[in-house]
Amino acid sequence: MTTNNSHDLFNRARKVIPGGVNSPVRAFGAVGGEPVFFESAEGAYLVDADANRYIDYVGSWGPFILGHGNHRVLEAIHMQADRATSFGAPSRLEVEMAELLTELLPGLEMVRLVSSGTEATMSAVRLARGFTGRDKIIKFEGCYHGHGDSFLIKAGSGMLTHGAPSSPGITRGTADDTLVATYNDIESVRTLLDANHDSVAAVIIEPIGGNMGVVPSAPEFLKELRRLCTDQGVVLIFDEVMTGFRVALRGAASLYGIVPDMYTLGKIIGGGLPAAAYGGRREIMEVVSPLGSVYQAGTLSGNPLAVSAGLATLRILADDNPYPQLEEIAQTLVEGLCDHARRHGIAHTANRAGSMFTLFFTGAPVFDYASATSSDTSLFARFFHGMLRRGIYLPPSQYEAWFVSTSHSQTEITRTLAAADETFAEMGE
Ligand SMILES: *Cc1c(COP(=O)(O)O)cnc(C)c1O
Repeated sequence: MTTNNSHDLFNRARKVIPGGVNSPVRAFGAVGGEPVFFESAEGAYLVDADANRYIDYVGSWGPFILGHGNHRVLEAIHMQADRATSFGAPSRLEVEMAELLTELLPGLEMVRLVSSGTEATMSAVRLARGFTGRDKIIKFEGCYHGHGDSFLIKAGSGMLTHGAPSSPGITRGTADDTLVATYNDIESVRTLLDANHDSVAAVIIEPIGGNMGVVPSAPEFLKELRRLCTDQGVVLIFDEVMTGFRVALRGAASLYGIVPDMYTLGKIIGGGLPAAAYGGRREIMEVVSPLGSVYQAGTLSGNPLAVSAGLATLRILADDNPYPQLEEIAQTLVEGLCDHARRHGIAHTANRAGSMFTLFFTGAPVFDYASATSSDTSLFARFFHGMLRRGIYLPPSQYEAWFVSTSHSQTEITRTLAAADETFAEMGE
């Protein structure tokens, strides 16, 4: 496998883009080596700048639940591109998107479209503060909510693997307003709420963690979290940027039967283009400008091209119900990976929620940030490169979710498991 073109592009990129990438995890810092530069993608496959083909388990970090280049999604994009790519004024597609989202997600009564998950979570927290008149928020160690200042307090994902508990450039004031609880530990939340009586505006959580690797929350924990927030007038925000329309059509909220006060959405709702959203109870959303006093705006918000791709994706998901198929293919893959790892004596724990999962290189159960970080990341790095050499493109960090799409069939699973068998054998030597 030659990688000369990727190598040349990376050298050029490093001169003009910090680290050669436009988002840190892409730089392969957690696994070593140089990033692959891509040219094209179709279905479950990626093609790099040197014409190597890979089976893709990143799916652009979540949006491509239907695989790359779904023809109905592409058709929607092409049709919209011929009409207009932006108005900066209201259009029909935004209405259709908002109607579909509010129809699908329990408790989502009004929604505002934005362009990235980061924008959605920043706006949701500002709104919760404006609505409650309180300043502080609670987040969970290992959860990732984009790169807004309030969330870069021991954030997971890219931040986690770079070993920085928080980023320079975040003011002390911001840090003081963000309280960090332990995932799946309701006592840690109760302690923070007790110590900050009547000053917590919101609790924000990934109801199924995906950014310290996949870590589902315990149903009892989430139920108790809902109860605490209701009792104390705290806005409960489910950050479903990753899990929304991924783990189930109606999101993680529907799987747990718990209705949050607000949602943040992204990834799948843009269908591979930049679209995201925040929304929730009408009473809260009516505080958003121009109806209410909490300001939030965007030049490209509700962009027709992005919304056309997202709407087409959501309609296919709602019409075709591919979730049982996704569940089966992901389960087959994860069971196969565990079988091979076991045979080669590799300590591992697999966590899965529908079509997202992580193979942790630790023998211990993974239920929070501390247990996730007991993983052997150097072992993961060897696994990652062994798989990459065999044409399997995994997320370049232990602490990320792998995604399968409706384009992943038994053929891809069989090839992936054969590659894993060989790679584990190498690692066990
Ligand atoms: C990806 C992600 C975000 C950030 O979304 P961007 O579009 O990358 O800004 C926020 N929250 C969660 C749970 C995510 O997975």
